[in-house]
Amino acid sequence: MNKRMKTGYGYYLLILIIIVAAVYFSSRISGSQTNYNFTQFQQDVQKGKISFVEILQNEEVPTGRVNVTFDSGQTASFYATDVKEVEKLLCTVEGLQNNYVMKDVQKPSWILTTLLPCGLGVLIIFFLFSFLSAQSQGQGGGNAKMMNFGKSRAQRIDPQDPHSKTFADVAGLKEEKEELAEIVDFLADPGKYTEIGARIPKGIILVGPPGTGKTLLAKAIAGEAGVPFFSLSGSDFVEMFVGVGASRVRDMFAEAKKSAPCIVFIDEIDAVARRRGSGLGGGHDEREQTLNQMLVEMDGFGVNEGIIVMAATNRVDILDPAILRPGRFDRRISVGRPDVRGREEILQVHVKGKPLSDDVDLKRVAQTTVGFAGADLENLVNEAAIACAKDGRKCISQADIDRSFIKVGIGAEKKSRVISETDKKITAYHEAGHAILFHVLPKVGPVHIISVIPTGEGAAGYTMPVPEKDEMHVTKGEMLQQIMATLGGRIAESLIFDDITTGASQDIKQATSTARDMVTKYGFSENVGMVNYADSDEVFVGRDYGHTSRSFSEEVAKNIDAEVKGIIDDCYREAKKLLEENMEVLHKTARLLIENERVTREEFEALFDGQ
Ligand code: ADP
Ligand code: MG
Ligand code: ZN
Repeated sequence: MNKRMKTGYGYYLLILIIIVAAVYFSSRISGSQTNYNFTQFQQDVQKGKISFVEILQNEEVPTGRVNVTFDSGQTASFYATDVKEVEKLLCTVEGLQNNYVMKDVQKPSWILTTLLPCGLGVLIIFFLFSFLSAQSQGQGGGNAKMMNFGKSRAQRIDPQDPHSKTFADVAGLKEEKEELAEIVDFLADPGKYTEIGARIPKGIILVGPPGTGKTLLAKAIAGEAGVPFFSLSGSDFVEMFVGVGASRVRDMFAEAKKSAPCIVFIDEIDAVARRRGSGLGGGHDEREQTLNQMLVEMDGFGVNEGIIVMAATNRVDILDPAILRPGRFDRRISVGRPDVRGREEILQVHVKGKPLSDDVDLKRVAQTTVGFAGADLENLVNEAAIACAKDGRKCISQADIDRSFIKVGIGAEKKSRVISETDKKITAYHEAGHAILFHVLPKVGPVHIISVIPTGEGAAGYTMPVPEKDEMHVTKGEMLQQIMATLGGRIAESLIFDDITTGASQDIKQATSTARDMVTKYGFSENVGMVNYADSDEVFVGRDYGHTSRSFSEEVAKNIDAEVKGIIDDCYREAKKLLEENMEVLHKTARLLIENERVTREEFEALFDGQ
């Protein structure tokens, strides 16, 4: 790089010298007295004012330069279109017949007038060309910022680098690590997989809220496999100039190919890979080009070339579907916020090398930091260490941690909704309500996992059912039970607490839309009949602005609304009865959730067996 910078300066100096020289010489060639001409010369000759004439002539052409010396000693010169004519004129005048000379044009001036401009032109073209190729291929050096536009800004971390990470640095995230183990194995020994023709995914996308360790995980894979790690942020690609992002992508992949096997990591991929053609107004050319180039590159290298492209985002919903297609980022791993056990492990990783006093109870810290992501916990420990060092103490005390909790907690709250004990209790009963209905209702569920850890999308918790069968048709009974399970959260809240919360709005929306579909799409309501009223609710302006028009009468609309409400009311009554029958399990589930924050299927089903 340094050498390149020097030669860059050299080129500029050379160009400068050439330009100065050219200007200087050309001014000399063009002569001092430009207003003198052949007509004036003729007159002066007739008048006998001239004492000496020098004609500079190029043999191959009739033209030439004529330098004139007057009697007064002054000089002038002009350009003659035909030197022969000048000579003839001079021959006719007595005093000048022997006072003129004919000389061949000096060689240097020929070089200066012909070769120099040509050379300059070639040089300029050469520089323009090398600049352009630097732009489009990301090669070519130069110290100027302009020249570096097309260069990838990928950061490279090699396995022996002190910044390199391994799985030991990643606490919690056990399932995620297990899922990625085969990738590590592949990168460490690609031959093993290619020999038996196994296809390893090219692209893996890590999805999860900020600070949950996505970048860390990607780095750890490279460190674990002992391969180089190239990373770039999606926003690095987005530049003012069209084409620069695309050339950076090209450059990065070219670099990666040279060091395969390796990992290419694109952070914040949503910055480039946003759904194409969405949003109002144009002006997305640059991003689209960049995205297209990325897709071309990913499609371009072979399946087992040893490059694994990883990407991270917290907004998978806005990604262009094209990048999630097979052969691209077809493996998706979601990285969630840690549960209480995960948080304790993360705290343990980050207190390494920091002396703690005896009163520090990491388990308790983990319990009080619901909703904290790994980055928040790291920050918490760091703030405590700073406070401690500032006071000049040697060991971090529990009081330091409590104080920094307030500081970090408020910041984290904005990002990730830290929840209070009451909130946690409400959420626990809410999710338990869903879970129990999923379990007892035969046509939905069973429950895979229940959690009261806030999600990135703003939900306070979630209950994840796994549909056991993969059937084409959904029955009316299934849809009704679906609605019942969806309402279960709110019902549980109302059974336990005096008041109900706003937390069920998403559930209510979903239950309503299912019920509506039953009435307007599937003809499940006898009252409304088998008429489709759903498609007349067409959205006609586009994804971003949803205006709807209705093409049926008020009467029908009223009828539909009544039917929808009827379905939901019936479901509500039925679901409430079921929950009341299972009050004991509801309490047990909620208690377990408050304690562990995540309850697995086995743990949950065991609660029913105990009855
Ligand atoms: P993301 O990329 O998901 O936004 P990062 O990987 O950048 O999050 O995490 C930021 C920091 O938080 C890491 O450098 C690390 O110190 C800490 N961290 C996050 N998750 C974990 C974890 N599971 N174990 C240990 N440290 C973590
Ligand atoms: Mg990150
Ligand atoms: Zn709910």
